[in-house]
Amino acid sequence: MTLLAKLMLATVATMAAGTVQAKTPAPVQDKPVNCDNCKEWNAPVKPFNVFGNTWYVGTAGLSAVLVTSPKGHILLDGALPQSAPLIIDNIKALGFRIEDVKVILNSHAHWDHAGGIAALQRASGATVMASASGALGLQSGTNGKDDPQYQANPVVHVAKVRKVSLVGEGDAVKVGPLTLTAHMTPGHTPGGTTWTWTSCEGDRCLDVVYADSLNPYASGDFRYTGKGKGGSPDISASFEASIAKVAALPCDIIIPVHPGTTDVLGKAARRSGTDNPLIDASACRAYAAEAGGLLAKRLAKERDEAAPLEAKAAVHAH
Ligand SMILES: [Zn+2]
Repeated sequence: MTLLAKLMLATVATMAAGTVQAKTPAPVQDKPVNCDNCKEWNAPVKPFNVFGNTWYVGTAGLSAVLVTSPKGHILLDGALPQSAPLIIDNIKALGFRIEDVKVILNSHAHWDHAGGIAALQRASGATVMASASGALGLQSGTNGKDDPQYQANPVVHVAKVRKVSLVGEGDAVKVGPLTLTAHMTPGHTPGGTTWTWTSCEGDRCLDVVYADSLNPYASGDFRYTGKGKGGSPDISASFEASIAKVAALPCDIIIPVHPGTTDVLGKAARRSGTDNPLIDASACRAYAAEAGGLLAKRLAKERDEAAPLEAKAAVHAH
């Protein structure tokens, strides 16, 4: 029997059984990233309610947040590629459906926060939205040369997100009754975005902040003060402005992209009937102050190192 005949027979048999042949479904998970912290970061966590319609659906070391409504949900971040099935399971465990996620937002396009987005997009059919620079990262599956953590070798690649819609400063993303606002907070990456919204329990409404990383962590010869070998511009002022912006946000609850930064999971576990340590109006100011301290230290070091070089250059000029 020829292969074609065999296939035709198989098709007839399937049709006779009254079943429809489905296309091979897209894989739930893309190729995982292996990193020193990946296993620890990706440890499963029981999902939980943060406040009102805000839910934590991430892993032990990487945040993912679901904001729900009867007209559809918004998901923030996808963690690692290997986190996507865990996030989908967490959404399901809370009684929601991944298919009802209409929009997926991103904090920044590093693989530990964006690696799972391609798979989550396929599973949900959601629109992925990010800043212009973030979109370049999501669509290329890696970071650009203007990224403080750009590494020529090795460059980490994750699954590319096919289509990304752009958001800018102050843009409101709406799904049904939900409104989430984008705040451009460049520094950790050029496209870093912090997101805010209001969640209510009865008459009590709180301001929730999904805070992007403000960690001045760079690789290679990158300099926030500019003049690195790559010729990058001085971004120290815009980074400082991002930190000031986060400090000034209306903020009752902060969820940073790494939950451990403000002990989100520990605070959630310590909640009691009378006490909720997740609610802390000073949390954004404290988060920003810590980042500001790190950045100041880093900038001082860079300026210190650059000073003798500039003095030498001045001598040569004469
Ligand atoms: Zn990062």
